[in-house]
Amino acid sequence: MRRKLIVGNWKMHGSLASNAELLAGIRAAEPFNCDAGVCVPYPYLAACVLALQGSSVALGAQDCSAHEQGAYTGEVSAAMLADVGCRYVIVGHSERRAMHGEGDQLVADKAKIALAKGLVPIVCVGETLAEREADQTEAVVKRQLSAVIHTLGPCISRVVVAYEPVWAIGTGKTASPEQAQAVHAVLRTQLRAATEGADQMKILYGGSVKPDNAATLFAQPDIDGGLIGGASLKAADFVAICRAAS
Ligand code: PEP
Repeated sequence: MRRKLIVGNWKMHGSLASNAELLAGIRAAEPFNCDAGVCVPYPYLAACVLALQGSSVALGAQDCSAHEQGAYTGEVSAAMLADVGCRYVIVGHSERRAMHGEGDQLVADKAKIALAKGLVPIVCVGETLAEREADQTEAVVKRQLSAVIHTLGPCISRVVVAYEPVWAIGTGKTASPEQAQAVHAVLRTQLRAATEGADQMKILYGGSVKPDNAATLFAQPDIDGGLIGGASLKAADFVAICRAAS
């Protein structure tokens, strides 16, 4: 059985004081019977790495550059993230695809450099509402994942995939467990064709996961945990979701 993974995506929220309080609340509830991580804004990585010393909760970032180093003002490299103590980095979040024009190949390139620098990329895929209504869900997520498979080759087995239907992110609308499972099964099948390690890979669900819907989502055979936005900002909710994954 795959051990579940719960990762908080704090997005552009927090402050030194509120982050310290949030992490203290999460730490007070350890140990968890699942893997857990928090992906925090860049300026807070250094403080959070200290606050998580001795904790089983891993640190992550929300994006990285596709470039190794150099004249890329404003960008942060995967090597820098590894250097400050990150384990995870989210790549291809729908907010970056939509607001920063990130395409499938750029996302794949970010996943590749993240792996090369010792990070675990959490590769997000997901369809918009219009794409779902046009019956394009399967085609869209397969296209998004296929770029990463193509770029990483057999190393694809080392990434975490997150299925995040865009219409469910921050909207309070969750995919039903059956809707989510159907897409996860499609992704697992696609991964099986690419790597023998597909059955050990984690495929997370993200999109308005809350303490009251987490357990039924995580009970699905191909849902290996969650990428949690809003609910990861409250220690009690994040902890409850980690418990639901245990
Ligand atoms: C996310 O941003 O990755 C996410 C899943 O957000 P929320 O849980 O708030 O829908």
